[in-house]
Amino acid sequence: MVNFENCRVPAANLIGAEGQGFKIAMAGLDGGRLNIGACSIGGAQFCLDRTIDYMKERKQFGSRLADFQALQFRVADYATDLEAARLLLHRAAVAVGAGEGGATRLAAQAKRLATDTGFDVVNGCLQLHGGYGYLRDHPIERVLRDVRVHQILEGTNEVMRLIISRAMLGN
Ligand SMILES: Cc1cc2nc3c(=O)[nH]c(=O)nc-3n(C[C@H](O)[C@H](O)[C@H](O)COP(=O)(O)OP(=O)(O)OC[C@H]3O[C@@H](n4cnc5c(N)ncnc54)[C@H](O)[C@@H]3O)c2cc1C
Repeated sequence: MVNFENCRVPAANLIGAEGQGFKIAMAGLDGGRLNIGACSIGGAQFCLDRTIDYMKERKQFGSRLADFQALQFRVADYATDLEAARLLLHRAAVAVGAGEGGATRLAAQAKRLATDTGFDVVNGCLQLHGGYGYLRDHPIERVLRDVRVHQILEGTNEVMRLIISRAMLGN
C-alpha cells in the first residue's frame, strides 16, 4: 500500500494533458481486462481438456460418459463458446495494441464474454465430473473459484455492460 499525504508534485511532472487523468487511468484498464479474459479462457480450456479425458474413462450404466449424446453436445457447445470468446479477445487485443477508437468498448465486450463463458464452461465441466469434481483436492474446484472472481475483478461485468451500452447509445 502506498500513501501520499500532502505530497506536492511539480507541474512539470504532469503526465498527459491537464484534466485527462481519469481518462488515461481508465484506458490503462483495457489491457487488464484482456488479461483477466485470457485467464478465464485458459482456466476453462484446462478444465475442458480434463473433462474430455474423464468422459472417455468414466463408465456409468455400462457406457462411457463420452458415449451419452446429451454430454457430447455439451462438450461441443463448450468448445464452440470458448472459441468465440477467444476470437473476440484476440480482436480486442489487436484494437488495444493499435490504439483503435473503439478499443475500450471491445476490451469491455471481450472481458464480459470471456469471463462469463469461462465461468459457465468450468461450472459445466465440474458438473460432468459429478461429485468428484466438487472435491477440494480436484483442480476443477479450484479453477471454479478462480474464474468466478473474474466476473467481478477489473470492473464487474455489470460495469462492462455500462461501458458497452454507453458506447452504443452515446449516453
Ligand atoms: C479477489 C479480489 C481482488 C481484487 N483486486 C483488486 C486490485 O488489485 N486492485 C483494485 O483496484 N481492485 C481490486 N479488487 C476490487 C474490485 O475491482 C471490485 O471489487 C470491483 O470493481 C467491484 O467493486 P465493489 O466490490 O465495490 O462492488 P460494488 O461497486 O459495490 O458493486 C456491487 C454490485 O452492484 C453492481 N453495480 C454497481 N454499480 C452498478 C451500476 N451503476 N449499474 C449496475 N450494476 C452496478 C456491481 O456490478 C456488483 O454486482 C479486487 C476484488 C477482489 C474480489
